[in-house]
Amino acid sequence: MSTIAYKCPNCACPMNYDGVSGKMTCPACDSAFDLEAVQAMYAPQEEGHIDFETPNATYAASEAAQMQAYQCKNCGAALVTEGTTTATECPYCGSPTILPDRIEGGIRPEMVVPFVVSREEAQKKFEEYFKGKKLLPNIFKKNNHIAEMRKLYVPYWLFDCDAKGNVIYNAEKRRVERTDEWEIETIEYYIVRRAGAMSFENIPVDGSVKLDNRITESIEPYDLSKAVPFQPAVLAGAMADHADVDADECKGRAIERVENSITNALRNTVKGYTTVKERSKAITANSGKVTPVLLPVWLITTVKDGQTYTFAINGQTGELTCDVPTDKGKAFVWGAGVFAGVMGVGAGVLAALGKLASGTMLIAGIAALIAALAVVGGLIGQLKQASSQSSASGYARDGGLNLQAEFDHYLYTKTNRRKIEKKEEPQSKEA
Ligand SMILES: [Zn+2]
Ligand SMILES: [Zn+2]
Repeated sequence: MSTIAYKCPNCACPMNYDGVSGKMTCPACDSAFDLEAVQAMYAPQEEGHIDFETPNATYAASEAAQMQAYQCKNCGAALVTEGTTTATECPYCGSPTILPDRIEGGIRPEMVVPFVVSREEAQKKFEEYFKGKKLLPNIFKKNNHIAEMRKLYVPYWLFDCDAKGNVIYNAEKRRVERTDEWEIETIEYYIVRRAGAMSFENIPVDGSVKLDNRITESIEPYDLSKAVPFQPAVLAGAMADHADVDADECKGRAIERVENSITNALRNTVKGYTTVKERSKAITANSGKVTPVLLPVWLITTVKDGQTYTFAINGQTGELTCDVPTDKGKAFVWGAGVFAGVMGVGAGVLAALGKLASGTMLIAGIAALIAALAVVGGLIGQLKQASSQSSASGYARDGGLNLQAEFDHYLYTKTNRRKIEKKEEPQSKEA
């Protein structure tokens, strides 16, 4: 067995395989390592890849005959609806210059989640939004009449896959002991491996270029068990965006969410270390499935000072999101108020205890800052601003991660001694 490629993790000298102990040993520093640990450090990790089979079924001729396509001359949106529904304005930009078009291409949705939230309910949610929000800009304080309220089916791709992850970490346990003269830092080095499987179902990625992904991701999730098979009649009275971002382009977003979810799940099983760093990682999923669906969204726009603000309401659950900004002035006033209040109380208490000093005031100041940030953060949360989601763990099946391999191998220990209190250069010695 040639072992020349394996270098000692402790001193970097070439190691040998010891047939008696079954370990890799270092002739220079006498360290011995389990084969599995050396393998994890030096074996090249196979490249990860996540594959999806993308659908390509288009509308049947009989379906196309019952449908009408439109194109917006203003914003370019391509839309379809059921044949007897007349579109008078674009659901995205409100322009009336929306012209009939031919149905061309486009992937046929397999399923549709019907609207449950009525126009009245959506309108009520919109009106209620403006109540009790402390950081709402003043322009939204009154006259929140709806410029447009549109019933829109947004095309989504739903991604299913069985993913496997294999991650190797460098981990350290660090502790510091002090004697009168010396500060002794001991670092134990470990190599850690975790492998596991995680299945995902129906990770939604929106296939509309017109709608910001942050908006669509903020009104997730949808209950797909309530979906019905697609047929043109389901679109009556609503418009559907004619999927313009194909599944291949949306794949990246789904892959990113799968990778983040499995990476976090594996990382959460590595415990008891001071630091943990990823050394290598491979995430693989073969023959994932993609299902095209239409999901219901109420799109509401309101115009303030010449600017259009968009509100989106999940047509099934009523979840609302929007692009209303935070009033920075009000956020500052709230933050400053909380800060001053906590500082004032802190100073009062310290004065009463007779402990008013720069050190204790600094601690009170930090506490006041944390309180101010927490209050302002909470108030910003009330605004339900659209933001993207990094994980797909909400779409994991079978209780999430199924851990399949787990090892934590101790490698070696390093000790650093540092002389304290004297003004000399700190001395460092390794043992
Ligand atoms: Zn060595
Ligand atoms: Zn338009």
